[in-house]
Amino acid sequence: SSSKHDKEKGVNVQVLLRCRPLSEDELRVNTPAVISCNELRREVTAIQNIANKQIDRTFAFDKVFGPTSQQKDLFDLAVSPVVNEVLEGYNCTIFAYGQTGTGKTYTMEGGGKKMKDGELPSDAGVIPRAVQQIFDILESQNADYNMKVTFLELYNEEITDLLAMEESKLSDDKSKKPIALMEDGKGGVLVRGLEEEIVSSAGEIYKILDKGSAKRRTAETLLNKQSSRSHSIFSITIHIKECTPEGEEMIKSGKLNLVDLAGSENISRSGAREGRAREAGEINKSLLTLGRVINALVEHSGHIPYRDSKLTRLLRDSLGGKTKTCIIATISPSIYCLEETLSTLDYAHRAK
Ligand code: ADP
Ligand code: MG
Repeated sequence: SSSKHDKEKGVNVQVLLRCRPLSEDELRVNTPAVISCNELRREVTAIQNIANKQIDRTFAFDKVFGPTSQQKDLFDLAVSPVVNEVLEGYNCTIFAYGQTGTGKTYTMEGGGKKMKDGELPSDAGVIPRAVQQIFDILESQNADYNMKVTFLELYNEEITDLLAMEESKLSDDKSKKPIALMEDGKGGVLVRGLEEEIVSSAGEIYKILDKGSAKRRTAETLLNKQSSRSHSIFSITIHIKECTPEGEEMIKSGKLNLVDLAGSENISRSGAREGRAREAGEINKSLLTLGRVINALVEHSGHIPYRDSKLTRLLRDSLGGKTKTCIIATISPSIYCLEETLSTLDYAHRAK
């Protein structure tokens, strides 16, 4: 895109907006829709009636996906180019940001990943499609590679490993292996105690995802966690062995982080919207810090506050520098969500 964060500036943050359709329940009770999407102009307009006056607010994004947009369209237009960059050796992150119920998980995971006639179902989301594309490309290139994945959850600044967690330990939270974050001295972060699984097929990854999601749900019930307050991070690291024309061996490494963020209502209700400086307590430090980090990157500010939250520390080697970031902000068209929608539009727009 030709917005201010293109290649010359060295910052690669792309912000997309997706508006879900009204649900059957919302349609049944004639919920008014107050959002209009103009995909060609890449604009979203929120229509507000204040004291009988219609006030429209329009926001521009790098791409806009309206209520009739399909999973495949969003992936092909916005995510597929990012996946190609991962195979070229970039660290890339795709975030889903938005109010609970607006389609973050639908966008990231979608309805299913069962292949039919060699194709993913039409409602498959970003994660299965990205995995599929990675293996398609590696196989077509006959690449010599190795790949590992990690899957974790961040809840109130505490990390839970969704791959290592044992069911028996879920009921006793304190007995689980502590996971520590340490700087590796090269700008990255090491997560001590985090399980890494070596994978060699899309099917294996899908199984790991299902297992992790199931554990997340179990933990939610047993530990009484509110899922809308947790972030999940699924990361794929790929090392590709290549030969230079001179016959030298070289390893190209890339990483793809797929992040389903906590519901954004958790920050706007705690007063964070009035002033970015005001702390929202511990409710969602990570969500607030992510906004500040992205702002600082886009505005080329000298100080990037990575260290202020676990989420940004975890993703530090994938935010800024030779990286690409794609934020998919999700909203509902319903009049009853308008306040949160405006807050999401503001947050996402600031990240541009
Ligand atoms: P979130 O993860 O943001 O809380 P979900 O992904 O769970 O929201 O979506 C809430 C509901 O809306 C789900 O039933 C989901 O299937 C549906 N939904 C979300 N986005 C879309 C969309 N673009 N098209 C059709 N249904 C959607
Ligand atoms: Mg969700």
